[in-house]
Amino acid sequence: MNTTTLASTTRLNPVSRPLPVLLAMEDDAEDVGRLSPDDRLTCHVHGRWIHQCVASPLHVNPITRHRWCRSCATALTVSVDELSGAVTMSCPRCGHGASAASARLIVACRASLVAARRGSGARAA
Ligand SMILES: [Zn+2]
Ligand SMILES: [Zn+2]
Repeated sequence: MNTTTLASTTRLNPVSRPLPVLLAMEDDAEDVGRLSPDDRLTCHVHGRWIHQCVASPLHVNPITRHRWCRSCATALTVSVDELSGAVTMSCPRCGHGASAASARLIVACRASLVAARRGSGARAA
């Protein structure tokens, strides 16, 4: 199987690709070290767009502080607004809990929202 179709000089272009295609591309790119797990728009565990499963407990990590408030030792609550594209995370106890890891996750969720919208071809403006 020839799967080496990734352009070597360009970044992955996630827009306008259906979920299964991008999922496979990101798996390959991650395997060869070209893509950080944090920058994925798809989730290889759940097989979904990252914004669709980020609320799962599996996406909480106290060590890396993805979706984790260290002060309260509590998982952050995720809010995803598919219409406006807004993604927020906050600690249910203190209302804060931001971390670099969570900020990166939010960026990925926003991008996956956009990619999912374009990839589906629905609601295109
Ligand atoms: Zn997931
Ligand atoms: Zn907190």
